[in-house]
Amino acid sequence: LIVLSGVNKHFGQLHVLKDIELTIGRGEVVVVIGPSGSGKSTLCRAINRLEPVESGTITIDGEPLPAEGRALARLRADVGMVFQSFNLFAHKTVLQNVMLAPVKVRGRGKAESERHARELLERVGLVAHADKYPAQLSGGQQQRVAIARALAMNPKAMLFDEPTSALDPEMINEVLEVMRQLAEEGMTMVVVTHEMGFARSAAHRVVFMADGRIIEDRVPEEFFTAPESERAKDFLSKIL
Ligand code: ATP
Ligand code: MG
Repeated sequence: LIVLSGVNKHFGQLHVLKDIELTIGRGEVVVVIGPSGSGKSTLCRAINRLEPVESGTITIDGEPLPAEGRALARLRADVGMVFQSFNLFAHKTVLQNVMLAPVKVRGRGKAESERHARELLERVGLVAHADKYPAQLSGGQQQRVAIARALAMNPKAMLFDEPTSALDPEMINEVLEVMRQLAEEGMTMVVVTHEMGFARSAAHRVVFMADGRIIEDRVPEEFFTAPESERAKDFLSKIL
């Protein structure tokens, strides 16, 4: 579904993505881990073209990423992204946050969008909070709204960049649980996270990055029990 081939990117002199080769199949859940500054966020952002890359190709469903205009807006709808910060519209209610983009970008009717939005809020356990404003919710609740908002576009794939890093510990699980459920339903997902429990239990593959390169790309069990590279061994010894 998502294929990156020979992808390179610099920020000035800094080479942040180096000859990235990565294929993510439909329904696959890929967890990306690695030290700070290794290029994980840049990789995610490249996939929905929040960052343009200099060389190589990125395709979604066989189509190269569009550079601009309506096609780019459609790409961002097809590949939903959830960030560390929740980025909800503060002056809109939970329901409005979830309904807005489908009406604007997909051109859906309001009644239909509202019905779908309520269904999604039900799924993330927040239908009772539909008329509240983001500031009235906990961080974990806000992040679940952000997930529902991305899902409202019926994306083909979802990118998560450290979705639980800004949360208090007791709220992490409620967000991971929603993500785990999505994975079980067959959503294609790329997840940057430090939650190794999630990586072990929900990922089909673990991609380990260091210095802008993919160093290992393996099934979780192998990666965690028998990492091949010194970089990965060193990283795991620090976090496990
Ligand atoms: P972290 O775990 O801290 O989130 P990361 O693996 O997500 O790190 P990136 O955010 O992808 O790393 O950054 C890779 C490198 O690119 C870092 O050295 C970072 O400082 C640099 N970088 C990221 N964004 C920019 C930017 N907009 N301009 C210049 N340099 C940047
Ligand atoms: Mg990052």
